[in-house]
Amino acid sequence: MSEQRCDVAIIGAGSAGMAARAAASKHAASVLLIEAGEYGTTCARNGCMPSKLLLAAADAKHHVDDAANFGLRVGPVEVDGIAVMRRVREMRDGFVGGVLKAIEQIPEEQRLRGAARFAAPGELQVGEARVLARAIVIATGSCPFVPDSLAGLGHRLLTSDTVFELENLPDSLAVVGGGPIGLELGQALHRLGCRVRLFERGHQLGPAGDEAMSLLATQLLSASLPCEFGVEARVGAVDSSSVELRWRDVGGSDRAERFQYVLVATGRRANLASLMLEHSGLALDARGVPLFDPLTLRCGDSNVFIAGDVNGARPLLHEAAAEGRIAGDNAARWPEVRSSRRWVRMAVTFTEPQFATVGDVPADPDACDVAVGEVSFARQGRSCVIGRAAGMLRIYATRQDGRLIGAQMIGPAVEHLAHLLAWAIEQRLTVADALAMPFYHPVIEEGVRTALRDLRHALQRKPTPSPLPMDCGPGT
Ligand SMILES: Cc1cc2nc3c(=O)[nH]c(=O)nc-3n(C[C@H](O)[C@H](O)[C@H](O)COP(=O)(O)OP(=O)(O)OC[C@H]3O[C@@H](n4cnc5c(N)ncnc54)[C@H](O)[C@@H]3O)c2cc1C
Repeated sequence: MSEQRCDVAIIGAGSAGMAARAAASKHAASVLLIEAGEYGTTCARNGCMPSKLLLAAADAKHHVDDAANFGLRVGPVEVDGIAVMRRVREMRDGFVGGVLKAIEQIPEEQRLRGAARFAAPGELQVGEARVLARAIVIATGSCPFVPDSLAGLGHRLLTSDTVFELENLPDSLAVVGGGPIGLELGQALHRLGCRVRLFERGHQLGPAGDEAMSLLATQLLSASLPCEFGVEARVGAVDSSSVELRWRDVGGSDRAERFQYVLVATGRRANLASLMLEHSGLALDARGVPLFDPLTLRCGDSNVFIAGDVNGARPLLHEAAAEGRIAGDNAARWPEVRSSRRWVRMAVTFTEPQFATVGDVPADPDACDVAVGEVSFARQGRSCVIGRAAGMLRIYATRQDGRLIGAQMIGPAVEHLAHLLAWAIEQRLTVADALAMPFYHPVIEEGVRTALRDLRHALQRKPTPSPLPMDCGPGT
């Protein structure tokens, strides 16, 4: 058995682990990056990038389908499923290739292949190698969760780990789970001509927090994508080419439908099982995740830090990279540990219409002394011009000083509005500060100005007191 000593050992070479390595290397003499699977990161290999590539193909098809609305006559669009999937994979492989190049730049003696597990506090076992580290960063990411009821579907079962490997677009697909991944992939495949039905055990789609926004998102998204709400689909007969799903619909009728594949998008679970945390000396929460401080990423008062999807706090790419930087920096400086200010929260789902949440969205604004301003995209000038006039933007500010604290939106290209508002909140702008900024014409951003003006009026109005005490924490 070999023994390797290092200042910082990083478990997982995903986006968090790579960022942790870069940050730790600035202060530590020896940093070891341990990877069990394939290099390339979830983001590039089977996450953000291939999903957006599939959505881009679906958007292109949708624009042609929609051409008649602009007075254009085009023939029926023929989708070459093999070519669509080939482009997704080729472009995806290009992004993965970029990560692999970055990995190659890391000196070989600073990389170790194999699954790491704790042998004792501060000590890891990786295959035959024993790794003794002054500090450790856990950055092992997460993987798709498949409920037992769907686990026996064999190769008829797809997850985000396998769907991009399909040679051709499926003819039909059941999507189980109406979160961002199920919605993005379900809508993309539906728009590309696949018969899709989405099963959601809850009753709503879209952003959580503001009830009115969830209702609108549900209405807009389910208008173009067949959805079943409040159902747990059961597996019926499975044969070599299809799966039968059965469910009881909202009207109480028993239904059944056959699909070529079932895409399970019922959430993700932290990759912790193989780490044997029972030997780490760390205190764990009820889900088995080490307790940690979100400002330092340190687990308790130990020399272990936890970053990225594995800690379950902010499972998004930009946050994984930011957490990697904080954790790597602190691991290298340990036992001196610094608290970092965290960014305002921002999450975008790339369906059409897109939806996004920024900052804090209280469930009952009045009870929290928060005012709300809104604009409907149904009448917004630029949105009408481009034929995408649907949705709503709501912006929230504290009544006390008019400072912007959050926003929720569903509408055309709200990925850009989300950034604008996140940056305004980061800059601690008030409604008046934001309204003093220039707005070009005619642009979707003019909708932000309308919502801000509405918010200014709302701040001048007296709030209606809530009859019930409400939770004033972030509703997202
Ligand atoms: C379909 C999909 C779409 C997404 N779209 C978006 C999006 O549009 N925007 C966005 O912000 N986010 C998106 N995400 C989320 C984003 O991809 C993740 O937040 C991010 O990739 C997490 O990075 P990470 O470093 O925590 O994990 P990963 O990149 O998964 O890295 C973890 C690494 O740890 C390794 N590992 C695990 N266990 C061990 C072990 N015991 N020993 C050694 N190595 C180990 C794994 O092999 C893996 O390489 C999407 C995710 C999916 C699945």
